[in-house]
Amino acid sequence: MYIDAHFHTNVYNRYENALVQALAILNELKILIVSSSTDPDSYQQTLEIAVKSKYVLPCFGIHPQVAHEYLDKLDALNDLFDQAIAFGEIGLDHYYLKDESQYPAQYTLLEHFFSKARDQDKLVVLHLDGAEEQGYEMIKKFSLTKVIVHGYKGSLETMRKLLGIGCYFSVGGNMILDAFKQEMTEDDWILFQSIIKEIPSNRLLVETDGPCRMEPTPPEGAPRSMPSYIFEMITKIASVREISSEQLQESTNNNFKQLIQNDEFLKSYSSLIV
Ligand SMILES: [Zn+2]
Repeated sequence: MYIDAHFHTNVYNRYENALVQALAILNELKILIVSSSTDPDSYQQTLEIAVKSKYVLPCFGIHPQVAHEYLDKLDALNDLFDQAIAFGEIGLDHYYLKDESQYPAQYTLLEHFFSKARDQDKLVVLHLDGAEEQGYEMIKKFSLTKVIVHGYKGSLETMRKLLGIGCYFSVGGNMILDAFKQEMTEDDWILFQSIIKEIPSNRLLVETDGPCRMEPTPPEGAPRSMPSYIFEMITKIASVREISSEQLQESTNNNFKQLIQNDEFLKSYSSLIV
């Protein structure tokens, strides 16, 4: 069993036959994927995919980059909030989205998700790019206990504060691979390696952010990555942490199990992890 803590299965719908191949890989290799969505339409697609595989954990999310489009529709979306078994990808984005006039909408939408997550005791998968400190303050304010921070790029200082309030971190994506090193600054490269090294072993999860992220050598004619890309992430992260891939796999499985073990919405996924 392997766990990919951040994924977007619905993106496979854009490629012919890719979904069938991806689901076959999940079943064969036993890769459980936490499949985030970014709007109601992609959530609907994700739900339909989850019916086809017990290894797809569907999350309802509205990405912060489109938050402003949904503020006046939240009442109409209430059933989705109630029926979802987990929330993601949600959060704040001040890194890719530079238009500050959109930030208030991000906060309002995230407060809405956080109040539902608190009241319904649901897992959340967060994107906090460029607004890590603000995200920390909000998680603390809502006293959330089941939080995965995905693709963290903030300071080590804020990371320690997020760890202090119980957050888990999923690392991976192509920001950590040697093949993509030339696409980032030296400072970012050093930061990402430090993040991978410093997260305590009992809070670490692994992600590919697939198939939005490109494999160094993507399968020909196929999407940018397939679910087996998780093995490259595990190998790389294990080598940076100077442990074996097996040790990393075992500890990340335990961590995810720990995170969801008392979650009444995720029992069927918890029982998959042995
Ligand atoms: Zn993502």
